[in-house]
Amino acid sequence: MSGGNPPMIPRAGNGFCPFVAIPPRLTFTADIEPNPADPTGRRHLAATAALLDLLEESGARGTFFILGEVAEDAPWLVRDIAARGHEVASHGHTHRPLETLGPAGLRAEAGRARATLQHHSGQPVPGFRAPFFSLTARTEWAAAVIAEAGHAYSSSVLPARGFGHGHPTAPRRPFAWTLDRAELLEIPVPLARLGPARLPFLGGMYLRYLPAWDLRAMAGRLEGPLAWTYCHPYDIDVEEPFRRAPGLGLLSSAFLWANRRNTLHRLRALLRGRTSVPLAERLDEARALAGLPPQSKGSAEEATAAADW
Ligand SMILES: [Zn+2]
Repeated sequence: MSGGNPPMIPRAGNGFCPFVAIPPRLTFTADIEPNPADPTGRRHLAATAALLDLLEESGARGTFFILGEVAEDAPWLVRDIAARGHEVASHGHTHRPLETLGPAGLRAEAGRARATLQHHSGQPVPGFRAPFFSLTARTEWAAAVIAEAGHAYSSSVLPARGFGHGHPTAPRRPFAWTLDRAELLEIPVPLARLGPARLPFLGGMYLRYLPAWDLRAMAGRLEGPLAWTYCHPYDIDVEEPFRRAPGLGLLSSAFLWANRRNTLHRLRALLRGRTSVPLAERLDEARALAGLPPQSKGSAEEATAAADW
């Protein structure tokens, strides 16, 4: 965009929009997995349908990182996501972190998930996101395995400290992994500073809990020029009854359960007046930021076939 006036972004319903400084072009992403606290193991299906409706209302298209297990259980959901113009991407098969899987485990999971997702979506599935953003300094071996599984890009790095996972020394803008035999583009989680911390403030839990003033300040300090948001079906599942999550205390379980209406409202505000396009359609933008040449025509067409399916 040339200089002049900033784009007009309508305000949220409460008259205060914390996202005024977020660029007009962004990407909505979601990780499609069951909520461990849901004993039925089925609520993510209806909650994903609600997310799809939210995107349709907003005229937005996004990237859905889907677990292979979910795709095997509900192939219709994968077909529906693809048919509604979104990119189908892989979130691995069983939602175990990379350090638990190890190279052989990841090889098996990534291959199985990608084949399943390709089969049900009819899309090429260029994208991969490690469960828990678990591509860290200890699991950098995973980049080669993800590339060998046929993925063109990964969205698996949280380049900050202070989280269960995180890779604080990784670049905060898109970068290419140095690999012997293949190429893999990494699109790390966008961060912004809040006091001494760097937080993935456009993620579901942060949209739920951060005060609007903090969100607005952080939106003006977005690090890395490629903006994207992420959430899970349970982040907007406002009807789910409270249950204690396995392995968690009452307080942590309540934290995971409460305030979901906030995520819904804030996602709406974030998408209003902006254009959301799948990551697969932003690969040349990300590659340029990583210092890589544009994709060859064939691979670019393959990556963007998601949008046309
Ligand atoms: Zn996940």
